[in-house]
Amino acid sequence: MLVKKLKHVNDYLQNTSICRSKVLLDYFGEKQSEDCNICDICISKKADSKSFRKDIRIRLLKSVEKNPIDISTFIASYSKIKEQVILEEINNLISEKLLLKNGKTLKLNEYK
Ligand SMILES: [Zn+2]
Repeated sequence: MLVKKLKHVNDYLQNTSICRSKVLLDYFGEKQSEDCNICDICISKKADSKSFRKDIRIRLLKSVEKNPIDISTFIASYSKIKEQVILEEINNLISEKLLLKNGKTLKLNEYK
């Protein structure tokens, strides 16, 4: 019995793709159809979603419109879990020649 319980705990901790709330309720024999949207797994899924990427792009472009921005300050305004996705979008905007990177700052590519 204890071994079985420990296995459940281990499954819970190892789980990286299913909403934790769902896993937990499943353990207690209940079914939840919707993701909770607040556990770390839901948040990381959201961080990788298309709409989040779009929001980041818009916010980056709006931020650099007036003044160059510091990359780490921009990233710090989001939770750590989203850092990778934000860096990817920054790199995408640079390769699309919309942004210019100068050391640790980003500015609008005005020559485009
Ligand atoms: Zn969740």
